[in-house]
Amino acid sequence: MTDIVNNYIAGRDVPGAPSDRLPVMSPATGARRGEVQTADPQTVARATAAAAEALPAWADTPPHKRARVLMRFRALLDERKPQLAELISAEHGKTLSDAAGEVTRGIEVVEFACGIPQLLKGEYTEAVGPDMDAYSVRQPLGVVAGITPFNFPAMVPLWMFPVAVACGNTFVLKPSEQAPSAPLELARLFSEAGGPDGVVNVVHGQRATSEALIADPAVKAVSFVGSTPVAKTVQRLAADHGKRVQALGGAKNHLVVLPDADVDEAADALIGAAYGSAGERCMAISVAVPVGDVAPALTERLVERATALSVGPGSDPATDVGPLVSAEHADRVRSYIDAGEREGAAVLVDGREVRVPGYEGGYFVGPTLLGEVTPEMRVYQEEIFGPVLCIAPRPDPASALALVNGHRFGNGTAVFTKSGRAAQSFARRVEAGMVGVNVPIPVPMAYHSFGGWKDSLFGDHGAYGPEGVRFYTRQKTVTTRWGEGGGLAMDMPVGS
Ligand code: NAD
Repeated sequence: MTDIVNNYIAGRDVPGAPSDRLPVMSPATGARRGEVQTADPQTVARATAAAAEALPAWADTPPHKRARVLMRFRALLDERKPQLAELISAEHGKTLSDAAGEVTRGIEVVEFACGIPQLLKGEYTEAVGPDMDAYSVRQPLGVVAGITPFNFPAMVPLWMFPVAVACGNTFVLKPSEQAPSAPLELARLFSEAGGPDGVVNVVHGQRATSEALIADPAVKAVSFVGSTPVAKTVQRLAADHGKRVQALGGAKNHLVVLPDADVDEAADALIGAAYGSAGERCMAISVAVPVGDVAPALTERLVERATALSVGPGSDPATDVGPLVSAEHADRVRSYIDAGEREGAAVLVDGREVRVPGYEGGYFVGPTLLGEVTPEMRVYQEEIFGPVLCIAPRPDPASALALVNGHRFGNGTAVFTKSGRAAQSFARRVEAGMVGVNVPIPVPMAYHSFGGWKDSLFGDHGAYGPEGVRFYTRQKTVTTRWGEGGGLAMDMPVGS
């Protein structure tokens, strides 16, 4: 039982009024696990004030000492991975092993952030003029905010705050109200690692809490990850308030299987990428694009493998596909399958009626496979965010590429082939921010950066990696002259 998940400000739990609490549900059982204390505007202001108070000392802390806090934080994350995985699985529904994997991917970002002394090294040019030198440095922005989705309760916050605080900023996190316990635990672990009070704070809630945070004058930049409609409004609101903003949105990721690919390998990759985490991943594959004569063999294998997956609670090691996050979301996913059927898709595997004995109240939808999907259908155009894989065959590689490039989302995509030439051509021409060649979920490692194109990302920088460092810092260039006597100069100074 979670009881009450509180706000966390300046190193302390901050309780609030019972009327400001939302239920936190268990997706596997449909029972209430506890409640989350939402932050009203005063509580948000208290959090940003704590972050602003912590800022000067933290920004003045040498980068290698900030990195040492992150090294201890990294060790604690590794040690408490099982507990974090339990919290994630209990509130999100994903399997424990998948939840542990998410923590590992988050830890990798902390490891990247531990290299901040090297990453913040500036540039120096001697003799830019007579007795003149110039140097450029990147300085922190100040208090920065992060708003994160339910589907990676630990990994996405870890994309953000370790890089932000490594750069010398202080942070206020507004995690998803649907899975608030793991993010709170991350902030507590940062404190336990020696992070000073106020450097990482957590406020809970929904739209109103996000909006209070974005509008708060102390907040200089906003990182958002979530659905595209919300990403768009967050980008607009942040821009209206003059804030730097990165807003990562939704996706519809295609996996193209060329005729020369190993069909079994491609089928296994599709099954894992489509149904892992019940399809609730922004890098999930939701469209399979078999090219040419590979379509029947691939479809046959997908039907066989999707039918064999076991649906159950995330806590059961035998489970392949856990529940969806909420009853409303499960209904939404079922209604998409209904819509696909009405529009003419062939329901090859149907997860709408799945029941899990002993978990009758859980939010389960089983793996679903839709054949004969066309670009006009809603199931093709919209992000379903559930265990639904569409098959949209194409006659040749050019029309497969055109299909992928015609979609409004451009998060991730993949091609399966044995031809280096075909893979190179696809990777070069495809309009997506992250591309896999025989890799179904090409989430970049922490020392690269994560970011989609088109309606999958709004703003100028991707998450973590070098892009994260650029996002959380601003450049300053200092030109110095220590020679004797300058003399009067009325003309524009020139370098030569
Ligand atoms: P969501 O957009 O509903 O919510 C995201 C966050 O925004 C939550 O903290 C929520 O409380 C808050 N929020 C909700 N409405 C808001 C509003 N009007 N104004 C301000 N804040 C608001 O997303 P979700 O359902 O939690 O997560 C699933 C979505 O996230 C999917 O679309 C998925 O593709 C996307 N996602 C994208 C990435 C990526 O890197 N591109 C990664 C993970 C998830």
